[in-house]
Amino acid sequence: MKFWNKKHLTPAIMILSTGLSFACRSINSDSDLKWAHMQSDRAISTINARLQLLELGFKADFKDISVCIQNSATYDAPSLLLETKLAYAAWLEAGGQGNDENWARLKFESKASCNMQDVNYSSIVVISEEARITPDQEISKTFSKNSLTCKRLGMSANCSTGSMTMGLGGPGSIGYRYFKPETWTSVSNRSPSTVLLSPYVNWISLEKEMSKAGLGELYTSLRSKGETVTYAELKDLVLKMSELKMVAKEDGRLDEVVKAFLASKKPSSIEPYVPTLPGYHVLLHEVGHQFGMNHADNPGADSETGPSAGAKQDENGNWTTELSTMAYADDYYYLTEDDRAGILDLVTKSRAFIESHR
Ligand SMILES: [Zn+2]
Repeated sequence: MKFWNKKHLTPAIMILSTGLSFACRSINSDSDLKWAHMQSDRAISTINARLQLLELGFKADFKDISVCIQNSATYDAPSLLLETKLAYAAWLEAGGQGNDENWARLKFESKASCNMQDVNYSSIVVISEEARITPDQEISKTFSKNSLTCKRLGMSANCSTGSMTMGLGGPGSIGYRYFKPETWTSVSNRSPSTVLLSPYVNWISLEKEMSKAGLGELYTSLRSKGETVTYAELKDLVLKMSELKMVAKEDGRLDEVVKAFLASKKPSSIEPYVPTLPGYHVLLHEVGHQFGMNHADNPGADSETGPSAGAKQDENGNWTTELSTMAYADDYYYLTEDDRAGILDLVTKSRAFIESHR
């Protein structure tokens, strides 16, 4: 009698698609009028790809895109919930993924505390506070306190802040199993995509800025809807902010500091500085990283880049296009042409890549 070893299928191999987290500084820099995003054949952990995996019916260990949101004392939960949804709606709309089906796949939850590594969530959004930084939120001690340096110059004074890391964002990682590399049998959430705002800033809501822009009533009415706000309502507000080209404005706080320093009679001073700032432009930028966007002004060797759809030159050959939210060119409250062209390119390419592995 002869025994045959039954030949087993080769064990499933798991490969991780990992995206880096970006530390995002507050330096204003010129974009070179390109967008930049992750390599599209490695971008399966982005929010847009996670949605596509669900949409295309892949066997997954997540049924929806759960978002854990941790507020702070200065950035209240209802405002942060609305503004997080607004940032998601802006990127979904720009990438052509905005619809009720996808919106229903997103589950936003405000919690007192979110762990950055909690794989029960596909996305973690944390407004960090100095008094309650947890070990998982230190992320290689990305953030540091800012200081304000003042020097007397004759009868006047010059006060300046250093550059400061404002936020951190990345797409996390997704694992996939296969018997044959061209067909994925299942996918799993290995680490959530993340957004972390610096604990050394008093982050506040957009409420005042919205009032100044004439959108105060709309903002408060959507905020009061909480869980029940619809994608159509969010898209409407996103488009209004875009039409108004809303950006964060200097609030004149440094003028007060200069006056106080001049009154102090000191020749120079270095003081700790904790700015109070609306968080939305940082949130919008970091959610961009969750969607797979890279820095347009400093894309890195493994980014895919391309020209902005709206790039225009004037008669002297100077570029007149708005710069990119993903370059921190300005503190945009909306996505510019650069951002829109970039996310649309990434969503289209990563969908084709994912579809080819069904
Ligand atoms: Zn960044």
